[in-house]
Amino acid sequence: MLQIEHISKTYRTGDLVQRALDDVSLCLRDSEFVAILGPSGSGKTTLLNVIGGLDRYDSGALIINGVSTEQYRDRDWDSYRNHSIGFVFQSYNLIPHQSILANVELALTISGIPRSERRRRAADALARVGLGNQIHKRPSQLSGGQMQRVAIARALVNDPDILLADEPTGALDTETSVQVMDLLREVAKDRLVVMVTHNPELAEQYATRIVRLRDGKITDDSDPFTVASSLPVEHRSLGRASMSFLTAISLSFNNLRTKLGRTLLTAFAGSIGIIGIAMILSLSTGVQNYIQSIEEDTLKDYPLEITDSSINFASMYTQQDSGERSAPEGVVEEWQTVSNLFTRVSKNDLAGLRSYLESDECSVYDYVQTIEYNYNLVPQIYTDRDGEIRQVNPDHSFAALGFTTNDSMGSLFSSFSSTDTFRPMPDDERLYLEQYELKAGRWPQRYDECAVVLTSTGHVADITLYVLGLKDPKELDTLVQSFAAGEDSEIESVPGQYSYDDFLGLEFKLVHSSDYYTYDEDYNVWTDHSEDPAYPSFSRSATA
Ligand code: ADP
Ligand code: MG
Repeated sequence: MLQIEHISKTYRTGDLVQRALDDVSLCLRDSEFVAILGPSGSGKTTLLNVIGGLDRYDSGALIINGVSTEQYRDRDWDSYRNHSIGFVFQSYNLIPHQSILANVELALTISGIPRSERRRRAADALARVGLGNQIHKRPSQLSGGQMQRVAIARALVNDPDILLADEPTGALDTETSVQVMDLLREVAKDRLVVMVTHNPELAEQYATRIVRLRDGKITDDSDPFTVASSLPVEHRSLGRASMSFLTAISLSFNNLRTKLGRTLLTAFAGSIGIIGIAMILSLSTGVQNYIQSIEEDTLKDYPLEITDSSINFASMYTQQDSGERSAPEGVVEEWQTVSNLFTRVSKNDLAGLRSYLESDECSVYDYVQTIEYNYNLVPQIYTDRDGEIRQVNPDHSFAALGFTTNDSMGSLFSSFSSTDTFRPMPDDERLYLEQYELKAGRWPQRYDECAVVLTSTGHVADITLYVLGLKDPKELDTLVQSFAAGEDSEIESVPGQYSYDDFLGLEFKLVHSSDYYTYDEDYNVWTDHSEDPAYPSFSRSATA
């Protein structure tokens, strides 16, 4: 049983506020065929996505089998989406160059089921939708109705409790629509099917219950269902999703969101094509919105980067398989992993690339959202907190462990060994206006203004707090030093809490490289003070 209680959801795009769901309450039985009818824009898709855990809502509660989802974490949502829900969309989202058997099988690949078992289950699911004798065909060899049946088979192969279908017959003619509806009615005999449609005739003919939506509100329900609201609502962890790979990816993406991990992962994501893997996985579950959000998230966090020099990490792992002949019996041959890694550093002609990108013959703009150029400039930033002057960029917190941003190593390593907190703002404001929500203050407008980036759950890394001076950086120094010395150390076990105001108005000092030098009249030379910690001759300040 699924309870939707007083759920509201608004979309904000720029100044436009759109109330997609307005205090919707709906209780769904374990097994029924619910059709959601309503004009375009009435909130049908939003409601379906909320039920499927694809979209969050602003207020209200979603209660699944008596368990509140209020305290669900990402992992619980993954588990819910993967075990309990099957999705079917108007566009079938099949992978064109794979057989339909492979398409259905892919939905199981992620759940750790052995291959032969996957094959059998996929073939069974296709047989159930009446395509048992066509399993080796490709999607392009099928009619629209048949493709939609493949999509339904794919949604059912995990045996979910709930099947959600968003205008599944929207692209089909009447005759094939009927076949698909027959199938959904069959499916609804032992599970909950929620189908969004704009076709009232089909809804009336097939569904057991019709819910009408208008302007985000339920205006009519042909067969309401209520449960005593005194039902105890408990929170229970669903445990680990067995779709462990995707879960693992999303978990590791989250855990590695710290600066160090992020840059490391950028290097890896680019080279082993993890983005591609994530996209195929999400394709296979047919979750269009999810794909889009992964796509946008990954591209924001892991854009395609072209650097002046790079190493091919992939070669380090794949070289062994790629045609390496066996060593003769009795002989042990060297496998040149590290030496290849360092000698195969490739150099890119970035100046040439830029002039090409800016020339008329360049057609790449049709395929990219934005192109940004970064130069290896390292702003020298200091904090002055109650007279304590500390350089916070480049960051030296881990110097005791041997981590430093050493320019002489070149951009090759500095980009992923750096622990710097400061990053340049993108030139293209869409990159942050669309991805981030402004919580307080305003977006930076001048070159010397900064924004503090929080995680999607409203957290900020402790290393950032040290840099901002909201936590005492000496505490971090002590921690790092005692770690380096192999001593045990203790940290505050209760995470700190801050208000938005704590972050607003923080000031930093930006020192121009030229300001490190003073002219020495006596000797007619310029003296370099950059190594002198007691020489912060501050010229400019920056404000958070
Ligand atoms: P339906 O499926 O009934 O056509 P939707 O649930 O897609 O309606 O949309 C409900 C309302 O919310 C519409 O006014 C739509 O413009 C708005 N909306 C839906 N998705 C978004 C989004 N991602 N960003 C902004 N507005 C949206
Ligand atoms: Mg819709």
